[in-house]
Formats: sequence, C-alpha cells, structure tokens
Amino acid sequence: MRQKNISTWLLACALLASAASLSFDAAASFEPELAEMATAEGADSNADSQPQQDASIEAELEGVLGIGFVPRDPTAFANILAKVTNHTPIETYVRANGYQVLTLAIAEQNLPAAIALGEEIIARALATENANAITEAHIFLAEAYLQNDRPEDAQSLITDIEPLTGGITNPRVQYHSKHLMARIFIRFEEFARALEYMLEAHSIISNTNDANTQRRRQFLNFHITRLQANLGNYSAAIETANATIEESLRYGLTERLPDIYLVRAYAQQYEQGPSAELVREFLRAAEEAAIVGNGRVEMLGYNNAGAAELLMGNLEAASTYLEQGIAVATRINNVRERSVTEFNLGYVKVMQGNYEQGIAEMLAAADVFKTFALRREVSILLSHIADAYEMAGMYQEQAAVLKEQNEMQTALFQTERDKVISELQVRYEADEKSLQIQLLEQEALLQTQQLQGQQRNQQYAIAIGVLLLVIILLTTYAYRKSRKINQLLSRVNHELNEQSLRDPLTSLFNRRVVQKHFLDERRNYKGTHGLFLIDVDYFKNVNDTYGHDVGDEVLIEVSKRLVAITRESDMVIRWGGEEFLLLIENVDHDGLASFASKILQSVCAKHYHTSKGAIPVTISGGGLTVEACKTNIIDNWDEKLKQADKLLYQSKDNGRNQIHVTTEDGSAAIILENSLRS
Ligand code: GH3
Ligand code: MG
Ligand code: MG
Repeated sequence: MRQKNISTWLLACALLASAASLSFDAAASFEPELAEMATAEGADSNADSQPQQDASIEAELEGVLGIGFVPRDPTAFANILAKVTNHTPIETYVRANGYQVLTLAIAEQNLPAAIALGEEIIARALATENANAITEAHIFLAEAYLQNDRPEDAQSLITDIEPLTGGITNPRVQYHSKHLMARIFIRFEEFARALEYMLEAHSIISNTNDANTQRRRQFLNFHITRLQANLGNYSAAIETANATIEESLRYGLTERLPDIYLVRAYAQQYEQGPSAELVREFLRAAEEAAIVGNGRVEMLGYNNAGAAELLMGNLEAASTYLEQGIAVATRINNVRERSVTEFNLGYVKVMQGNYEQGIAEMLAAADVFKTFALRREVSILLSHIADAYEMAGMYQEQAAVLKEQNEMQTALFQTERDKVISELQVRYEADEKSLQIQLLEQEALLQTQQLQGQQRNQQYAIAIGVLLLVIILLTTYAYRKSRKINQLLSRVNHELNEQSLRDPLTSLFNRRVVQKHFLDERRNYKGTHGLFLIDVDYFKNVNDTYGHDVGDEVLIEVSKRLVAITRESDMVIRWGGEEFLLLIENVDHDGLASFASKILQSVCAKHYHTSKGAIPVTISGGGLTVEACKTNIIDNWDEKLKQADKLLYQSKDNGRNQIHVTTEDGSAAIILENSLRS
C-alpha cells in the first residue's frame, strides 16, 4: 500500500464516514421534529380571542403522531381527518391537513396531490390572516418539497413567510420554521447559516419547559453536532456530543444515542485518526442502533468501522464490517447510502491488488452516490477514485478525475457564502492543499514515466507546462514577498535609527547624531561652515522660580526659535540640558557675526509665553568656522568644540546675553541691541 500523507488521509476519512454526518434520507424515519413538537402546545398559545384550535382534535392527533413525518397509525389518522371540516378552527385545520400533505408526499409518493392539498391549505390560512396557520401551512408544503429533493421550491416557500415570523405566537411553529430553514440550508451546503438557524431553534425551545423539552433539546443538539462536524469543527462537535450524551443518559432518552455515538466517533476519527478504540465505538453505535431498530445508523456504524479498518490497512476486517453494513442496507432497502459502503468495499479490493473489479465497483457505486450526496462529498469521493487509479497505475484516468475534482471544488466554493465563514474555509483550504499535493505527486509520477521512456502525449506536456508555470508563479510571488519584507524591515530600521537620534523633549537631534551624522552620505560637508555652541542663561533660576515644567516649555520654545532661523540642511542639536549646538552650512568668517546676531535676535528679543506667564530668556554662545578636511568629516572636530566652549564661557564671563565669534585677529563679542536684560 502506498504511503499516504496526512492530508490525503483526511480526505479518505471524510468520504468513508461521510454519510454519518448527513441527513438526506427521503424516508426520514428518524426525523421526528414534526411529531416531537406536536405535543408542545396548548390552545392558549394564540393571543387571538377567536378560538383557533380545536382541543379535542388536537389531542386525538397527538395520539396518532409517532416519530416521523407521517402519522404512525394511518387508519386512525384518516378517521381524525374526516372530522376536520371548513368549520374547524384554522390552526387545527392546517395541522391535520398538513399531515395529510406529508402522507401524500412521503408515504404515498404522490407529490402532485400533496402540492394541490398544500396550496389549498395555504390559501385558506392566508384568508384568516392567522400568522401561526399561514406559517405552518407553508412549512408543511415546504417539507413535502424538501423530502422530494426539491430544496429550491422549499426555500422559496419559506422565503414567502419570513416577514410573518414576527407574528408567530406558537413556539412550536417558530421552532419548526427555524428548524426547516436549517435543514434547507444544509441541502444548499450552507452549513454555517444552517447552524445559525439551528441555534435559533435551540433558543426557542430553551424557553419552553414541558415534557418534550429535553427530547427536543437532544434532537437539536444532535443536529448541531452534525453541523459542527460538517463545518470541520471537530472539537466543538465532540464537545456537543459529550454533553448531549450525558444529558440523554440523565433523562433516560436513549433512543437517539446510537446516532450521537456515531457522529462523535466520526469527529474523533477526524481529530485523532483511526484506531481500534474508534472501531469499537462505531460497532457500539451499530449494535445499539440495531436494538432500537435504527437500521440507518446500524448500517453506517458498520460502514464506518470498516472504513476505519481500511484506513489502518486491516483489509480483512474492513471487508467483514463493510459486508455487514451492506447486508443491513439491503435489509432496510437503503440503496442510496449502501453505495458508500459498496464504494469502500471496491476500494478494499483495489488495495488488495484486484484493480479491475475494485475500480469497476467503485465507479458503479459513485454513480449512485453522485445522485444524492453533497457536492463536497462527491469531490472527496473523486479523490479516492484518483487514488485507486494511481494504485492501478492508470495515470491518464487519474489525471482526468483530479481535473474533474478540481473543477468541482472551484465551482463549489465560488458561490458559497460559507466560504468566508472560518471553519469551512479552513477545511476547504485543507482539502485544497491536499489536492495540490496530490496533483504534484501525480505530476512527479508522470515525469518518472516519461523518463522511463513510456508513452508520452500532448496532455502530459501541457500538464507539466502548467506545473512549471505554477512553480514560476510561486517563486516570483515568494521573491516579491521577501523583497517587500526587506523593504519593510529597512524602513522600520531607518525609523528606529532616526528615533534614537532624536531628543524626545524638543525633537531636535541629540548628541549621538554627531558620531553618525557626519558620516552620513546625505550630507556633503565641503567648504566652510559655522559652528555655534549656545547655553541658556541662568536657566536654573527658571526652573527654581517657575518649576521644571515651565523650564521644559522654555527649552521647547528655544528649540523652535533656533529651528526657525536655520535651513533644512543645517543642524540644530540639543547638546546637553540647556545647551545647543548649531552647524550652519556655508557660513564663512564674515557670515558668523551676522548669524550670531540672528540667533540673539530670534531667541532673546521676545518674551517666552509660558503657562506661568511671560518670561524673558537670554542665551550666551560661542561661534567659529569649521572646514571639512574631506567630505563629511569635520577637520579637528574635538579641537573646534573646545574652542566653541571657550568662546561660550567668554560670553558668560562677559555678562551673558551675547555670542563670541572668532575673527581674523582673535575673537569679538556680538551683543544684542535693545536687549530685554539690562
Ligand atoms: P548659566 O547661565 O551659568 O548657564 O546658569 P544656568 O542656571 O543656566 O546653569 P546651570 O548649569 O547651573 O543649570 C542648568 C540647569 O538646567 C540645571 C538643570 O536642572 C536644568 N536642566 C537641564 N536639563 C533640563 C531639562 O530638560 N528640563 C528642565 N526643565 N531643566 C533642565
Ligand atoms: Mg549649561
Ligand atoms: Mg545655562
């Protein structure tokens, strides 16, 4: 047996147990929602003062409604129906005749007669404007359509009554409309939406508390479990199943347990893989189902036990259980779902090397399966046919099947609303991925074949061409992506770098910029430039008098005033606490004095408007020229800084509020005229 990768294996798992998660049996002998809800209501549910129900007929009806859509006792039901006349209150009239609609549609397989009666009771209900009756009449006919594989007709009927749902006072009708909607959406494979309706139905019954509440809860929880499993949310499905099993045992509701065991084991197999323990679980579901007369679950239990053995490579045991399943399916005359088991048995034969017969059986079963299964499941089945072809070395056929599957999946998920709803999407992606892997594996095989000099044809060449194109596209994408990431990284690095060079209070460059910036290639320090070192006078007093916050405000304003007189290419650096360093481009000896005046004028001429009022501020400074010995490197940088510092202290010593600049013959003080300070 070929080594399977995990995702391919998951596909196998889904198909082989698929029917367990579905409900498409037209006989519907285990879909008791109508009957179960039948006993829910008393006559007081309708707020209308007109009597809308006939209590005695209702009670009689409840006596004949068993589990299922069709009354348990047809003769007794016919007798009750004979008592229903045009004078019977409308809700009872609709309910009694509604069961007749279902009897015609399901038991008698006479859909035209069912439609005629259904439309008649709808017309009568509409004439009364009773929302309960109108809704229920629509529900019966919709159910008749749904059970005859006409979900579109069912849906359009239900859409007609949706605006009415607010007016429904009978919880049984409310519940049933939600439940029916959910089952319609299941048919359209919109599982997430179905789950929404199922949960709404669940909340409706949670508000009731009568003899049937627990039964209905169990029933809904079972459906919810199946939907969760269908949505690929296996852990949620297992959790719901566990809670439901526990609750069912507590209330002695054991009849449906085999169903729940089956779905739980199905979900567990998805999560954990097949095991002897899960085989026992499937067999338990089968055996307990046999006891309560649930032939469908009995059949599926054997099928799934066989499928699990098959997945573990135990072909003998697989055959035994699958044959048991086929026997049960034949006994209950479930030809449709028997096809799943027959398909699996064919698969076993292929694995045993009996390719021709195995594949023929698989194809025959697939034809039946395709007539009723969900498209997603058909798609899974196709992947198994592809596997079988591969095992048989029939690569051409395998390619054709994989192509069909691919097309089906694309069509399936293009239209689907569920696509955007997470779990299904995840599952879809998992399926997609494994399909991709299969395609690649197959391509590899085709290539090997070519190398072996076997027959090659145009189809292969095209397939390989497509593969190469895909690889090229993928590579380009990966390259583009990595380039994008690199760009992003360098931008982030740049920003971090800039941040580390900025002073948080004033947003000016900080001292570190000197080490970095003079080597920065963005600048080109050639020629003569002005270097100024500036210190705020008596700044300690500002802090002491007005507080540190006002000191900060002053520093910010000093920074702004300095920036205002400089160009983009100049640099204003916060050198220390209240000290600033300015590097002014292209300022020669003559320009120094005028720029010093400009600084004094800008920084000191006007009061600083702070939160504590207007404050006069002066500064002292020292300025000199610097040259670049070569591009971006200031000649004698440390020496020049020391000189600037010296000039600054000359200004301090000389009474502050001035800037000393170097001149040809030593230094000169620049003093602001009309100074604020005396
Ligand atoms: P001088 O004229 O001699 O320069 O006198 P000064 O008071 O300005 O000088 P000194 O060095 O004595 O005081 C500087 C003060 O600046 C001390 C310090 O607390 C304050 N300082 C430094 N950094 C900051 C700051 O970021 N915010 C505020 N509010 N104050 C600061
Ligand atoms: Mg200082
Ligand atoms: Mg100072």
